[in-house]
Amino acid sequence: MAEIVLRNLRKTFGKVVAIRDLSLDVADGEFLVLLGPSGCGKTTTLRAIAGLEVLDRGTIRIGGRDVTRLPPGKRGIAMVFQSYAVFPHMRVYDNIVFGLRMRGIPLAEQRRRALAAAELLQITDVLDRYPAQLSGGQRQRVAVARAIVMEPDVLLMDEPLSNLDALLRLHMRAELKRLHREVGSTTVYVTHDQVEAMSLGDRIAVMRDGEIVQCDTPQRIYDDPANVFVGSFIGSPPMNFLRGVLDGAGGIRLGDTVLPVPVAYQPALGAQRDPEVLVGIRPEHIVVGAGPLVAEVVVSEPLGPSKLLTLRTHGQLLKVTVRADHPAAPGDVVHMDFPPAHVRLMDPKTERALPRTGP
Ligand code: ATP
Repeated sequence: MAEIVLRNLRKTFGKVVAIRDLSLDVADGEFLVLLGPSGCGKTTTLRAIAGLEVLDRGTIRIGGRDVTRLPPGKRGIAMVFQSYAVFPHMRVYDNIVFGLRMRGIPLAEQRRRALAAAELLQITDVLDRYPAQLSGGQRQRVAVARAIVMEPDVLLMDEPLSNLDALLRLHMRAELKRLHREVGSTTVYVTHDQVEAMSLGDRIAVMRDGEIVQCDTPQRIYDDPANVFVGSFIGSPPMNFLRGVLDGAGGIRLGDTVLPVPVAYQPALGAQRDPEVLVGIRPEHIVVGAGPLVAEVVVSEPLGPSKLLTLRTHGQLLKVTVRADHPAAPGDVVHMDFPPAHVRLMDPKTERALPRTGP
């Protein structure tokens, strides 16, 4: 068992607070993604788990052991970085077994593990080459192979795909997913790419300013963002947020249009009057063609499988995904509806999600 338990981690660099007060549990065998914008503290958190940063405060347990003060080599972890540091003067095979050799693992066992890893990562035919003779994707796979031959309890990866072109990223993403299924190491994976996070993570911990703002399954984070930041950061294009006002009679006014307060919000909000709310809705959930809201088409962008419209309603812009053959063109006036089950209300002051009861 190699669950990871982080408790109240804090790390500062001079005046910069890289990690504020971070607690997180990663289950044995789980694939957890740390996601967030540049500078939010993802790498520092990963390096702290690895033992490469000395914390100001907090404890780290791996597999039930307090490793807070243990050096990296004693933590049972392996790491793959963004700059996949393979040794240029060593052949692929020697790169892969390097760590095993350092650890004094017998030659036959080195060979067994290296061949198994090479097979898993489909690099068996390049074991005799030097890194300079490999493609970026192959080099990346060598770096991953070198980590997994260590048979780590915990695998830590920091943006391992960021140096690859788009197609190779897509391919390696699927490879990593398969690899995780086969190897089963508890994995913590850092990325700022929300698609990568959605695709790979059993759960995603969304970070901002040194804190985790939401940690849940990708689907729940997508469907129920904890605040405006998460709704905007996850999803491309992001969730729309329109300013509205509760009318006290079970409705939300958007200009002169009144939408019903969704059933799940009624117990908490039904009778409130005048508080402003942010009406959140994903671009693909807006129904264009019929409904109480009137909007003008500002931009129409064909994207191949679908079309992205920018609409203006009551002075506010929003993005809507429609079918590729939808006829809407700039200047057209369209009707639209927000299906209540997909509406997410937020408090405009705190930008936090308002409480819902039920679906
Ligand atoms: P990125 O996606 O850009 O790598 P990140 O989310 O991984 O960002 P961190 O690298 O963890 O962010 O950095 C968090 C904060 O700590 C940033 O403000 C960064 O500038 C600062 N920081 C990180 N390492 C150091 C260091 N060695 N010295 C000083 N400041 C640092």
